[in-house]
Amino acid sequence: MEIESTSYRVFIGNEQLLEIDAMLEQYQDQYTKIFLLTDDMVMQHCMPVFLECVPFLKNAEIIELSHGEQHKNIDICKQVWETLSEAGADRNSLLVNLGGGVVTDMGGFIASTYQRGIRFINIPTSLLAQVDASIGGKVAVDLGKMKNQIGLFSDPLMVVVAPIFLDTLDDRQYKSGLAEMIKHALIADATHWKELFHALTGQKELAMEQLLQYSIQIKNKVVLADQKEGGIRKILNFGHTVGHAIEGLFLEENGTTVLHGEAVAAGMICEAWLSEKYNGLDSSKRIAIQEFLMSLYPKLAINKTMIDDLLSLMFFDKKNRNGDLHFSLISDIGKASYDIVMDKEKVAASLRYYIGLEENV
Ligand code: NAD
Repeated sequence: MEIESTSYRVFIGNEQLLEIDAMLEQYQDQYTKIFLLTDDMVMQHCMPVFLECVPFLKNAEIIELSHGEQHKNIDICKQVWETLSEAGADRNSLLVNLGGGVVTDMGGFIASTYQRGIRFINIPTSLLAQVDASIGGKVAVDLGKMKNQIGLFSDPLMVVVAPIFLDTLDDRQYKSGLAEMIKHALIADATHWKELFHALTGQKELAMEQLLQYSIQIKNKVVLADQKEGGIRKILNFGHTVGHAIEGLFLEENGTTVLHGEAVAAGMICEAWLSEKYNGLDSSKRIAIQEFLMSLYPKLAINKTMIDDLLSLMFFDKKNRNGDLHFSLISDIGKASYDIVMDKEKVAASLRYYIGLEENV
């Protein structure tokens, strides 16, 4: 399957890996050198399968990073830029990013800034990167606790989503990816929400490849409507204003103990609460969303002493204007709105609500 995005295509299906092999071979004159960026976990679990399907890249130079969000920063970029320079990468070099959202976000950023920009291809290997991070042209790194603070919009040459890579993903990482699929359904598609709900609660067989394609289509449709996030694209941030603050706080203080999707799930619980209070979301639907999320994700160890720090981090969110906190909230399942100004006290109340929830066992 192929999905047309802004300036590139997303190819979905394991067989598409064989297609890129043929394509890279056909257009090899266009690239002086090809580099493969990955992390140590993906190197172990996915690289052998990848090179078997794309043998043309067997001689590509591999740049291997340590895995994890704590490595998504400018210091690591500097090391990769230096490696590229030392290896003689020029403007006609190609960077192939094989990995989760950390590798595709950071690899895209590295490629887009090296010598004012070289071409890159994303081969996402985590569920989260397949349905979300590798698509949409946002590339970035974190600045301390501030998520994705340094970055730009820059499209890959193409994205190849091969579900085969999901076979080696552990359950926690898999669920982390599901959080973004749930978000896509909540902001844009009530039918997809029902399908996900039925599949994940065992009421229907889980047709993962189909759900994955559908989720990618939702994201792509929003991106096509507003590539640079001037308006409607902000709805993709539902759950992320609170979620990014949580992820950032845990990242700096404890290393990466909270995964992106887990933080976004907690963020969606808080932001669904705000949606009910201030954006017309029906109470029973809000409770259904919360119960579903609580059944999938652990309750995060947030306490009242963290609220001020979390609010401070939210003020760095890129959606804010004039010092106000701007939220993307839902008014129904499948309907979202953006640029909703919330004062600090309301947001603090949503965090206190989350802190008071019982763990779902
Ligand atoms: P990640 O890249 O850290 O991957 C998660 C873990 O799974 C890593 O340890 C990785 O080595 C491992 N892994 C990846 N694929 C594997 C596989 N097939 N088998 C075994 N292990 C595998 O994190 P992620 O959850 O993929 O992505 C999170 C990042 O994505 C965050 O930095 C977030 O900000 C970013 N993101 C970006 C966008 C965007 O639009 N650019 C959207 C959503 C999230």
